[in-house]
Amino acid sequence: MIFDVHAHIEAPIYDRDKNVVIKRAQDAHVIKILNIGWNVESSIKCIKDKTSNLLPAVGIHPSEINTSLEDIKKIEELSDAAFAIGEIGLDYYHKDFDKDLQEKFFEKQIEIALNKQKPVIIHSRKAEARCIEITATYHSLKGIYHSFTGEKHLIKRILDQGFYISFNGMIFKSTNTAELVQYVPINKLLVETDAPYLTPPPQKGRNEPAYIVHTFKRIASIKKIDIDHLKEIVFKNSTSLLNA
Ligand SMILES: [Zn+2]
Repeated sequence: MIFDVHAHIEAPIYDRDKNVVIKRAQDAHVIKILNIGWNVESSIKCIKDKTSNLLPAVGIHPSEINTSLEDIKKIEELSDAAFAIGEIGLDYYHKDFDKDLQEKFFEKQIEIALNKQKPVIIHSRKAEARCIEITATYHSLKGIYHSFTGEKHLIKRILDQGFYISFNGMIFKSTNTAELVQYVPINKLLVETDAPYLTPPPQKGRNEPAYIVHTFKRIASIKKIDIDHLKEIVFKNSTSLLNA
């Protein structure tokens, strides 16, 4: 059994065949998918589409912030029906985003997660060190650092804070990721697709949860462990963190 802990099933690219994509996932034993919102509109859709297989996460992605804190209130309202708050975080890759405003949105959404006792899903592109500084100030916070490609000493700090790390198709692209995969202990490791993005080879084009199996194979080979054993442990990690 497989749990894809990060997919964007509400992305417009699935509008025409969402149910087929979910069916293909189930046929590939991906029985649970954490369906991640990135703004208010997509978060509402995630909640509407909630089933026992498609579990919603609600939040405002750092590239989707605006000057209205009204949106935070809406995320708070939606959060009761969600399994996690995300995706949230900081993104310094796009230079035109306001860093202070990003931090404000990040912190307010962390507070929602703490109040509602939900895990957070953290996006930290080119902003890993600052994200880690911020999460260090919230002691009972739990969750996932997703798609992490930063340096090894940073991953140690994330693990010390009690977070899980989730890997996806990025591990086929970035040269230091084999070392990172090797470093993260199996009981803190999760696997995701980030579909429709980051398609793992040999697949091409639009990514989808069924393709997660390629990432599992790669991780099992890097860590030199049996793939079925890896799947079993990662599934347990996912359900216990997400209370699912
Ligand atoms: Zn994402």
